[in-house]
Amino acid sequence: PRPIEDLVAALEQTADARGKVTVKGAVVHWFKMDLRCNDNRALALASEKAKEAGVPLICMYIVSPQDYEAHLRSPVRVDFMLRTLQVLQEDLAKLDIPLYVEMVEKRKKVPDRILELMEEWGASHLFANMEYEVDELRREAHMVHDLSENGKAFEVVHDTCVVPPGRLHSGSGNQYAVYSPWFRSWVAHIHENLDLLELYEPPGKNPEDARKKFKKLFDCKIPDAPKNKQLSQEEKKRFRALWPPGEHAATDRLAKFCEEKIGKYKEKRNIPSDDGTSSLSVHLSSGTISARTCVRTARNRNKTKKLDGGIEGIQTWISEVAWRDFYKHVLVHWPFVCMNKPFKPEYSNISWSYDEDHFQRWCEGRTGFPIVDAAMRQLNHVGYMHNRCRMIVASFLSKDLLIDWRKGERYFMEHLVDGDFASNNGGWGFSASVGVDPQPYFRIFNPLLQSEKFDPEGEYIRKWVPELKDLDDKEIHDPYGRGAKDKVKKTGYPEQIVEHKEVRDRALSAYKEGIESG
Ligand code: FAD
Repeated sequence: PRPIEDLVAALEQTADARGKVTVKGAVVHWFKMDLRCNDNRALALASEKAKEAGVPLICMYIVSPQDYEAHLRSPVRVDFMLRTLQVLQEDLAKLDIPLYVEMVEKRKKVPDRILELMEEWGASHLFANMEYEVDELRREAHMVHDLSENGKAFEVVHDTCVVPPGRLHSGSGNQYAVYSPWFRSWVAHIHENLDLLELYEPPGKNPEDARKKFKKLFDCKIPDAPKNKQLSQEEKKRFRALWPPGEHAATDRLAKFCEEKIGKYKEKRNIPSDDGTSSLSVHLSSGTISARTCVRTARNRNKTKKLDGGIEGIQTWISEVAWRDFYKHVLVHWPFVCMNKPFKPEYSNISWSYDEDHFQRWCEGRTGFPIVDAAMRQLNHVGYMHNRCRMIVASFLSKDLLIDWRKGERYFMEHLVDGDFASNNGGWGFSASVGVDPQPYFRIFNPLLQSEKFDPEGEYIRKWVPELKDLDDKEIHDPYGRGAKDKVKKTGYPEQIVEHKEVRDRALSAYKEGIESG
């Protein structure tokens, strides 16, 4: 069975026992990747349960540095989450709700520690939103049983996707493996079930005695990042100015985007020098805003009050937010993508090049392909990369350099502020032609054409590759090939490390041979 089926079975098997647990002591909400008070389903359910019984709500964030390791969380992402916890703690404190935060040394000790804390607090009920990675689903399935055996109730609910995984089926009753028909079905399903866009209210104030009863929890400090995830002083200054934490920052960003940019999103979304996208990925991936709120807010601005039709920018943006749901559905249905395996098994036998020098040059933005180098330098400097450029550099690594896409997937996770397993794995699979994209492998991006089309005046390149800032609009896309050798050589900007046409043929042969030998 898929890991989600184990969790669903655990919830069903314990349903009776959980229903009989009387609420006492306190109700606990366990924050994971849902670091917000508003529109948080499990938190709203926990708050309701506590309120009905007149007991306090306690919130906790229990994690192990090994979780950060296993999920390849980048230092900038860990820093963002810890700063967000600070905001969350302050917001909850205003409601007399404590947020207890603890780093447990070993990952496997987290469930025992949670049970121990619940015993200590005299709490009977635990709530959490579901996470769809294999390890998390398995852990939660065990915890549902363990807590039940200990006379406690653990409720794990869907929240992160607008449409919970498992709801959409193709005509033949199977899970969709292609985005377009899946998206049509996603839209229709929401139109028929508008409660999916319902807003979950933030928790209410705790009873007056909560502060006295759980005084120690209110004194809890947010820990520092584990040693290997710490930022230098310079990085803190740089990243923190760019990525304000917490749900208020997220809500403000959504409001500003909807006010100023969403109408033109369709035209602008592919231009990396243009600030035409929402930059909400850091918030969606940390749960400082819900996908539901994003879709509801955008839809409400559309006169048709529909997800499709009406203003094109709104429709297109909603369809992009839907990609996030899509990749999570894929992960739940084909969990082997979590295990380093390509979605299309016939692509398992490609002979990758593993050229370490080429890989390093790609990582550092020194390939001699200005658009690729600009994008990689953007990633290294700000922890973010424009979507068009993510596709260009991923195609370049896996096709032009013929380097195993999993090395690029990992590098992204280790550097992105918005690193999310499902979206990143999906994006890499798509770009390397080993994922859910129905297009065959011979669709290979030409970096020069991509550069000319999406950065015609070289504005993005000039920003991130200052060595090239004085070149004209034509030269800038291919300085050595377009007669700017003398100007550019003295800046130290490298020549192209491969010749696109040549390596394109190499990629075509390697993919073909890989498939045939599979
Ligand atoms: P907007 O254009 O404003 O879109 C709004 C939201 O929709 C995004 O914040 C995001 O949550 C979602 N979204 C948009 N496009 C996609 C997409 N193609 N796939 C999944 N969700 C999407 N996104 C991540 O959040 N984390 C990742 O680790 C990640 N890795 C990627 C790796 C590759 C190789 C590729 C091609 C794409 C990846 N994406 C990832 C998707 C996409 O590039 C980013 O979500 C987007 O660039 C974020 O910018 P934005 O918030 O301004 O997006």
